[in-house]
Amino acid sequence: MNDAINVADIFGENVFNESVMKERLPKNIYKRLQQTIEDGRELDPTIADAVAHAMKEWAIENGATHYTHWFQPLTGVTAEKHDSFIGAPDENGKVRMNLSGKELIKGETDGSSFPSGGLRATFEARGYTAWDCTSPAFLKKDATGVTLCIPTAFCSYRGEALDKKTPLLRSMEAIDKQAVRIFHLFGNTAVKRVTPSVGPEQEYFLVDRDKYLQRKDLIYTGRTLFGAMPPKGQEMDDHYYGVIRERIGAYMREVNEELWKLGVPAKTQHNEVAPAQHELAPIYDKANLAVDHNQLVMETMKKVASRRGLACLLHEKPFQGVNGSGKHNNWSLTSDTGVNMLDPGVMPHENVQFLLVLACIMKAVDVHADLLRQSAAVPGNDYRLGAQEAPPAIISIFVGDQLEDVIDQLCSTGSAIHSITGGKLTTGVTTLPDFDKDATDRNRTSPFAFTGNKFEFRMVGSSDSIAESNVVLNTIVAEAFKEAADELEKAEDFDLSVHNLIKRLFTEHRRIIFNGNGYTEAWVREAERRGLPNLKCMVDSIPSLVTEKSFKLFGDFGVYTRAELEARAEIEYEAYAKSVNIEAKTMIDMAGKQIIPAVIKYTTVLAESVSAVRAACPEADASVQTELLKEISALLAEMKKALADLEKKTDASAKIEDGSARAHAYYDNVVPAMNRLRAPADRLEMIVDKEFWPIPSYGDLIFEV
Ligand code: ADP
Ligand code: MG
Repeated sequence: MNDAINVADIFGENVFNESVMKERLPKNIYKRLQQTIEDGRELDPTIADAVAHAMKEWAIENGATHYTHWFQPLTGVTAEKHDSFIGAPDENGKVRMNLSGKELIKGETDGSSFPSGGLRATFEARGYTAWDCTSPAFLKKDATGVTLCIPTAFCSYRGEALDKKTPLLRSMEAIDKQAVRIFHLFGNTAVKRVTPSVGPEQEYFLVDRDKYLQRKDLIYTGRTLFGAMPPKGQEMDDHYYGVIRERIGAYMREVNEELWKLGVPAKTQHNEVAPAQHELAPIYDKANLAVDHNQLVMETMKKVASRRGLACLLHEKPFQGVNGSGKHNNWSLTSDTGVNMLDPGVMPHENVQFLLVLACIMKAVDVHADLLRQSAAVPGNDYRLGAQEAPPAIISIFVGDQLEDVIDQLCSTGSAIHSITGGKLTTGVTTLPDFDKDATDRNRTSPFAFTGNKFEFRMVGSSDSIAESNVVLNTIVAEAFKEAADELEKAEDFDLSVHNLIKRLFTEHRRIIFNGNGYTEAWVREAERRGLPNLKCMVDSIPSLVTEKSFKLFGDFGVYTRAELEARAEIEYEAYAKSVNIEAKTMIDMAGKQIIPAVIKYTTVLAESVSAVRAACPEADASVQTELLKEISALLAEMKKALADLEKKTDASAKIEDGSARAHAYYDNVVPAMNRLRAPADRLEMIVDKEFWPIPSYGDLIFEV
């Protein structure tokens, strides 16, 4: 190809990254900034002016006119408020371009229209954004021009987190501290820092933009609210990893290029299970960078799609009856010495450490299954979890046969004489076996699967930020590490104590391990028997944020205060009610203004056809037309009734004051009413002449991209 690009040349060209800093900052300032970034120290305000100056010069040389504090409010998407670099004109009418250190590190914004769950009374509407210098600034280039984006955290006047970034950074500090203790217990005293590594795999759909624009449901809600299944779905499995079509290929290429320039290491791309569904995965990175980058991935996907006559659907369930989209969150813990705590490793003593880490994670996930599940709750995910296409809403851990076998042996006999396929490995108390990384098969049905040297949390929805899930993972594992370290640091015989602790944890939390098929009804019953929570919908998952257990966990590690958790629960109820309200209103609009009128038109044509046939030939059989007319009229009447009912239920729910009660009303009353309206409409779509159907069909949308 003649317009071939060199990835290495363009990678990170829009990022104020380490090499740019090194080149442009005075040596001592560069060094101090690096220290801040690497050691997680507080930023020295005295160097801020110099950093801001260099950043501004670089941005302007690259065409920037504006800068923005880029943040992630609790809406789930990113927010930015653009200011130009322009200062007041001087006496000659000339302007200077400015960015002071103060402007770099702190921004003030009237954040009153961002959700705060009552944390910020209207009289103190101020919100502050603070530079997260561990995530580099970057240039966004689009129709508005070039903007310098400064990644920030967003807090209230009293320092309460109003965003997703602040708790994430707090949770990273928590796990860092506790994980270092674990390393030190095993004599790895060179370890100074441990960082969670995260690699999110992003699934998405692409549809034709013109067709997308003909569907109000896609425009307003991101998913189809009506739509009959086409004759062919995904049953042929011919899309999964299938050859990528030209139009899609060109799209992926442009997305990759944009991302590479932003320093996002986009790596893998392929077609997914459903027609028109695809996936993009970057190379894993530090958790906060991965979270920022995932936001950029979603934004870029949408932007490039609209440029290319496509629409990118990030909703968890854009099409009923077709596989939805998720975001697998791959997670591990990496030390500053380059060791991955989740790597089974080759040295026996390291394996003991690994087994302790595994046991702690088992405990964390078992004890806080409710919080982990909650972290993946967005309205769209209700249509995916437990629908035989994504993990059920029950949290369990897949470790594979090999590890499960070791766990079982340790639990039953206290030592493991472990045999893996073929070779036998005999281990004593402290010398535990090596695991052949690939000896374990994959299990796509598990919500939390061990995949060689990382855990993959598969519940996260495709539209969701991965911040919350990583906040929960980091904090719950920090707690388990802390409890283990508290015990082991006091132990007289470390080898014996660690062995006993591993055995105890494995035994106590054995119930969270499940290697079987998570899609089956048998598992739902088995999980119930084991006492594992099954929080089927978002609304039911929200209370887990505000239990005493949750207050204690997040409070102990300084990740969320009680007030912050209460606010978040409020915001989630609100988000749920709002989302269903928009869906219901959109359905009411489409049914009343598009579908019912179209069907009436068709019945008129049918009726005219019956009279025309009879007039032309009294003996002719017009039964097809009359039967159709009867069937369609009956469905039409059913639709009208369901429409009136949906209107009533929506109005009634909207009036409820209490957030939790309102969300429940939407879930219990409005969602079923929406289903009752959809059912006759979808049957009508199958029998009404396509010429009359007012919106593009599923077939049009997913097979003709
Ligand atoms: P899999 O096939 O097991 O899903 P991939 O190689 O496709 O694995 O990687 C999926 C994602 O997991 C990628 O984003 C990848 O960078 C990330 N990943 C790989 N190793 C790790 C790790 N140790 N910690 C966190 N993420 C990882
Ligand atoms: Mg994967």
